Amino acid sequence: MLNIVLFGPPGAGKGTQAAKLIDKYNLVHLSTGDIFRANIKGETELGKLAKSYMDAGNLVPDEVTIKMLESEVDKNPNAEGFIFDGFPRTTPQANALEKFLESKNTSVSVMLALDVAEQELISRLLLRGKESGRADDANEEVIANRIRVYNDQTAVVADFYSTQNKFEKIDGVGTIEEIFGRLCSAIDSYKVSL
Ligand code: AMP
Repeated sequence: MLNIVLFGPPGAGKGTQAAKLIDKYNLVHLSTGDIFRANIKGETELGKLAKSYMDAGNLVPDEVTIKMLESEVDKNPNAEGFIFDGFPRTTPQANALEKFLESKNTSVSVMLALDVAEQELISRLLLRGKESGRADDANEEVIANRIRVYNDQTAVVADFYSTQNKFEKIDGVGTIEEIFGRLCSAIDSYKVSL
């Protein structure tokens, strides 16, 4: 299985690139943010719980997020692999994913981290907020908090994969096609080394 963790701060372009990668490599895209938003729209209990955290730009508690992610993986028993987008976002989530995949005789193949400077992230998110109507993209304070949460709680997850030699940084600035090309080269060279 090819299991890719697509990593990077909010606004780095993970969702855009994941949509292209799943087509090329025949993978299932699991975005925890998208799943939470679908639950909010469907007014489920999970959505109600997640909403207050998301509106403030804070992380939904690990226990809830991990359980949800595992059940989404289990919904796709015939998948050739997954792109995890927005997960893991904390070290406990990374540990849980490792154990969970191990129980299925598989593992994370590689973490690809989109690298984008902070000022560029803020302008991208504000633009997305105008276009998509996502509440957490429309408010500068919430954006600043999401970037702070990323730096404080999420950035460290890179070390988890880096110590396993599974970490690769990808320049996240350029056209969508340029960035896609860089991601594909990284994945293809990883596949050759399998
Ligand atoms: P995203 O669409 O990835 O930017 O996520 C939007 C929001 O969903 C985040 O700001 C968090 O509130 C929540 N969220 C998404 N993924 C996670 C995760 N792995 N752990 C905790 N909260 C998450």
